[in-house]
Amino acid sequence: MLSVAEALAHIDATVVRLDPVDEPIADALGMRLTADIVSTIDSPPWDKSLMDGFALRVADAAAGSQLEVVATVFAGETTAVEVRSGQAIQIMTGAPIPAGADCVIRKEAVEFDQVAGRIRLTSQPRVGEHIVRQGASMRSGDLVLERSARLNAASIGLLAELGQARVSVIRRPEVAILATGDELVPIEATPGPGQIRNSNESMLCACVTNSGAVPRPLGVCRDQADELDRFIAEGLQSDILCLSGGVSAGDKDLVPAALIRAGVKQVFHNVNLKPGKPLWFGAHTRPDGRTGLVFGLPGNPVSSLVCFELFVRHALERMQGAAAFWRLPLAVRLAADVKLQGERPVYHPARLVDSRLKVEFGRAYARELQQVEILNWQGSSDLRGVASTEGLVHVPAGEGVWTAGRIVEFLTFAGNREG
Ligand code: AMP
Ligand code: MG
Repeated sequence: MLSVAEALAHIDATVVRLDPVDEPIADALGMRLTADIVSTIDSPPWDKSLMDGFALRVADAAAGSQLEVVATVFAGETTAVEVRSGQAIQIMTGAPIPAGADCVIRKEAVEFDQVAGRIRLTSQPRVGEHIVRQGASMRSGDLVLERSARLNAASIGLLAELGQARVSVIRRPEVAILATGDELVPIEATPGPGQIRNSNESMLCACVTNSGAVPRPLGVCRDQADELDRFIAEGLQSDILCLSGGVSAGDKDLVPAALIRAGVKQVFHNVNLKPGKPLWFGAHTRPDGRTGLVFGLPGNPVSSLVCFELFVRHALERMQGAAAFWRLPLAVRLAADVKLQGERPVYHPARLVDSRLKVEFGRAYARELQQVEILNWQGSSDLRGVASTEGLVHVPAGEGVWTAGRIVEFLTFAGNREG
């Protein structure tokens, strides 16, 4: 049986990076750049004051000296008045530094006689104090964002500063979600005897959105070959079709055969992990020549969640241009003992425990290494037990106990690496 690493390598060998689209920056949060961004401006565009105060010359600014205030300059204004010896110009934060000045002194560091139009300095400023120089944060021609970087709030602000209203990014993948099972009813329905609500569809749609992709829920499909064929044909129109249920070895597990009938080529079936062993993965060529991917996730909700986060998520990130190492594990400490589970490696849904604070010198500090709590799930259907999941802790196959305090690897759903 394939290991998790081997399964991920198969996915890497199958995924194809998606095409670029030109998006308004306001819609591009979380999308990845298709090209480097080079600045066309200096920032700040001119020498600028960092404080409300007075622009003056250090040479005539010994503590106690008096200077004449000859003008005022606000943010958004410039002044033609030059600062000469014995003079100062009142200046606001963000305003351009007037000619002749070489420092800004904070208004709290002077006594301002508004009637006489004079200030008296109470401290000695240094050259350049409270001035940010033109081009200090970037110069025209600087590489400011790299290809494949994921756009966050600050990088969208940076694009706006450059005057870029639109940006070329990898388009968001569309993921069709198909829940299969005779026992499933829509979430609005009251389940009859033997029935359960289709919780996987809503959960997987949320996982898709969380991956920067667009979910397309298809509803419930019965465990019947002809119905499966119809729904699968529909789902194959999306970049990824993600099915839940029907991939194990039961008499009604009809999904793998239906996918093969639809022309999907199996890449693997079954991976050595818990939960989620029956995972099925395949690919097909779409009418426009592009590669479509298909994941058959086990129906059990916790298995579906774990398989989505380990495998579908990886495919989605890679299609959007992420490097193979986009999610490096965090090193965290186990909050409690964990028993190893024998022959299969386990990916435990887990969450970071509120950092216990240590108090020193009258202040609270977060602990250096966060603790992680493995969520106590009563089998693969227990969504309640894992509802606060933030990531997965990998515990390898074997016997014995890992004791509290041990350093383990935590794969966060947030993704801690912008690779
Ligand atoms: P299966 O993988 O089809 O054998 O299903 C395994 C278990 O997951 C069964 O107990 C199903 O009832 C449950 N299950 C399957 N699909 C869903 C779904 N969409 N929502 C919630 N539970 C499901
Ligand atoms: Mg089923």
